[in-house]
Amino acid sequence: MLEIKNLHVKLEEEEKQILKGVNLTVEAGKVHAIMGPNGSGKSTLSYVLSGRDGYEVTDGEASLDGEDLLDLEPEERAAAGLFLAFQYPVEIPGVGNMTFLRTAVNAQRKSRGEEELSAADFLKVVRERAKTLKIDADMLKRPVNVGFSGGEKKRNEILQMAMLEPKMCILDETDSGLDVDAMKLVSEGVNALRSEGRSFLVITHYQRLLDHIKPDVVHIMANGRIVKTGGPELALEVENNGYADILAEVE
Ligand code: ADP
Ligand code: MG
Ligand code: MG
Repeated sequence: MLEIKNLHVKLEEEEKQILKGVNLTVEAGKVHAIMGPNGSGKSTLSYVLSGRDGYEVTDGEASLDGEDLLDLEPEERAAAGLFLAFQYPVEIPGVGNMTFLRTAVNAQRKSRGEEELSAADFLKVVRERAKTLKIDADMLKRPVNVGFSGGEKKRNEILQMAMLEPKMCILDETDSGLDVDAMKLVSEGVNALRSEGRSFLVITHYQRLLDHIKPDVVHIMANGRIVKTGGPELALEVENNGYADILAEVE
């Protein structure tokens, strides 16, 4: 599904090299987690995959279902099935949440050559999916994320994801700032979306999210590279012993 080879990335404005040869393959239907100390390049990896400005790929490649991602504009990447849930979801004053979702869904359908959803069909689907995430009708009418609590913003991101039905979902510290109940809701939302044709890359600082979203594979990222890969037990090792042992071992 997602294939990253020898990816090197630097900041556009500075000489600072951030990613120094990332290799990662996420198979269809699998959930991979990336953990790692602050500043290791986890967010940079997700930004570069989504096509955010300010970064320059100096070497390597990244593809989604065989399609070269790095050649595509951000909206083309989304149309190809990539979705990134941000650590800090943006507020969009003046644009109703429901209108935003409907526009996004229909743009997506159009780019795939599918018919637009009728207003009634859209409403039915969005209400049903919002209910699972305990998002009430009021939140659907309000401007996107404006005045939403941290937990509400994260749930709203998962709703966006549920509506767009992406193939490859990247969640960057979706758990940060969530209380236990909100984290459960978000995790349940993600778990409900797990399917054979959909993969996840879950970036997290803490093992606790991975108690709820059970990963197939866990990677440790440090200093711009993936330095260790294992099963869920690797996350427990980090939780118990921190990163020091693993980093010492790979050095
Ligand atoms: P992580 O998500 O693992 O905490 P980041 O990808 O956010 O790591 O950052 C990796 C490194 O790159 C850090 O040293 C960070 O300070 C630096 N960095 C990332 N983006 C920028 C930027 N726009 N300007 C300056 N430094 C940046
Ligand atoms: Mg980060
Ligand atoms: Mg650009």
